[in-house]
Amino acid sequence: MVEQTCVFCRIIGGEEMVSLIHEDDRTLAFMDINPVSRGHALVVSREHHPQIWNLPEDLLMHCLGVSRRIASGIKRSTGADSVNVFCADGVDGGQDVPHFHLHLIPVHKGEVFPLQLPPSGTPIPSRSELDVMAARIGRAIQDA
Ligand code: AMP
Repeated sequence: MVEQTCVFCRIIGGEEMVSLIHEDDRTLAFMDINPVSRGHALVVSREHHPQIWNLPEDLLMHCLGVSRRIASGIKRSTGADSVNVFCADGVDGGQDVPHFHLHLIPVHKGEVFPLQLPPSGTPIPSRSELDVMAARIGRAIQDA
């Protein structure tokens, strides 16, 4: 599964320059070319799957295991106390490269992570609205 138009597939195929941290038979980890902060890295599956829900579960678990090791390496090598794991999933979510990847973004002392949840002013829904949504999602995962 390789997409010639996909920049991550070209990196995996050795056709693009990359600052490699780690590779194994299922993943690559490398420096983000346009880092949010010093040490920002990406963990990418070798197989081309556009989004997280296209990924076989064992491959996702492998990517998470690699991410845990890389995050720990980022902490030790940069001194950052926090490493946020981020995955934009789909165009509306801001995903620019439609090839599954996890961002590992260190947040250094004195910096503010640009995405703070919840954004200030977000209304808190009632318990019954939360219950309705929980039931709806619960039914959807049973139907899938
Ligand atoms: P996303 O919006 O989650 O799809 O993020 C894609 C990320 O890939 C961005 O942070 C880009 O800076 C990064 N990126 C794009 N092209 C390259 C490349 N050739 N090498 C390293 N990182 C890249």
